[in-house]
Amino acid sequence: MIQLQQVERHFLLGEQSVAALAQIDLQIHAGEYVAVMGPSGSGKSTLLNVLGLLDRPDSGHYLLDGIDTAGLSEPALAELRSRSIGFVFQSFHLIPRLSARENIELPLTLAGIAPALRRQRVDELLAQLGICNRAAHKPAELSGGQRQRVAIGRAIAMSPRLLLADEPTGNLDSHSGEEVIKLLERLNREQGITLVVVTHDPRLGARASRQIRMADGIIVSDNQTAATGGTESIESPSLAGPTA
Ligand code: ADP
Ligand code: MG
Repeated sequence: MIQLQQVERHFLLGEQSVAALAQIDLQIHAGEYVAVMGPSGSGKSTLLNVLGLLDRPDSGHYLLDGIDTAGLSEPALAELRSRSIGFVFQSFHLIPRLSARENIELPLTLAGIAPALRRQRVDELLAQLGICNRAAHKPAELSGGQRQRVAIGRAIAMSPRLLLADEPTGNLDSHSGEEVIKLLERLNREQGITLVVVTHDPRLGARASRQIRMADGIIVSDNQTAATGGTESIESPSLAGPTA
């Protein structure tokens, strides 16, 4: 599903160019559950932004389902992002003046989905996320865990196949954090959504079926347990697709 080939991303720090990503080669298969770990500044967010088509590599190739995204125009990228990719951030990024329901509905409205269908889909999501009784509340009236649920609802409203979460539990207490992670895992397990989670928390990272560790813009280790597929796994020629 995802293929990065020699991907580089540099940022200017004063006069100096810093490689946030240095010659990254990475393959992620449909249905995988991957944790990305590593110290602050190691390039985790940059990697996720590139995977989420929020940022473009300076060089190298990002193939999404075999399509080289480097060749796509901005509108084509936006379309692909809207249809295929959901993004969850540490600080929720909800729109303060909109209710929970309206926040979740936004991507559907932007995609031109008819109002009746939108209402139905949002009802379904609110129920799935366990926040039906919070639908009319604004973000400021919700707990951190509830805000992140709304953000997840918005991220999956368009039924993306890829869900990227950048420290989704970073602003939550450990109990709400665990609830949020379980919710993400359920989406991976039951709907086969490919899940990539950046986390600082080794316990959360250990729950994924594959751990990628970064340092200074490179992948320093990438291990997969037998549970999930991946043809690049040397230990096990295992099944592709979601974990059972
Ligand atoms: P992480 O998420 O692992 O903490 P980042 O991907 O945010 O790391 O950052 C990796 C490196 O790239 C850091 O040195 C950071 O300062 C730099 N960097 C990231 N984004 C930008 C940016 N927009 N402008 C300048 N430097 C950046
Ligand atoms: Mg980061």
